[in-house]
Amino acid sequence: DGALREAAALVREVPDFPEPGVLFRDIGPMLASGPALGAVVSALGRSAEFDVVAGVEARGFLVGAAVAQAFGTGVIGLRKPGKLPAVADRIDYALEYGTAALELPADTLRAGQRVLVVDDVLATGGTLGAACSLVRQSGAEVAAAAVVLELTALRGRRNLPGEPVEALLQV
Ligand code: IMP
Repeated sequence: DGALREAAALVREVPDFPEPGVLFRDIGPMLASGPALGAVVSALGRSAEFDVVAGVEARGFLVGAAVAQAFGTGVIGLRKPGKLPAVADRIDYALEYGTAALELPADTLRAGQRVLVVDDVLATGGTLGAACSLVRQSGAEVAAAAVVLELTALRGRRNLPGEPVEALLQV
């Protein structure tokens, strides 16, 4: 799709961020372009049939809210710990060094809802896997786990067996 290819050209490569040796993919310039954001949003929204979007902090909020609005659903922010005034549920997960967690805000997700989980980048898969588990823990269903960009060298899909992963772009 031509619009998606043009969007892909706006992803910036940042060497040695957040630490030496890491090549960070920055989708900021892509989201800043109206046509690119439009192409990304409509492609993500076509990943699955869904009742609500769950975006992962923080760039998943930007993309997820745009998808929700375009497809007429609500949006939920899966947040890092310590931000929410009322927490429905929490999941802790392992990172390469240390641990992280995501929290589901109270009174948002309902059992049985089909959820489109959205994040910007799939790297090792830990974050997306945790987001999907958090959704299921609440009795909802993961319609798709959709990301804008998959870093295939990190083999994140291996850590997401059985998850309905959809990636718009791969590098
Ligand atoms: P994972 O848990 O290793 O798959 O890392 C994915 C999380 O880290 C996502 O929430 C991304 O926002 C972030 N992330 C990891 N690598 C990159 C990158 O190169 N660009 C942008 N975000 C990244």
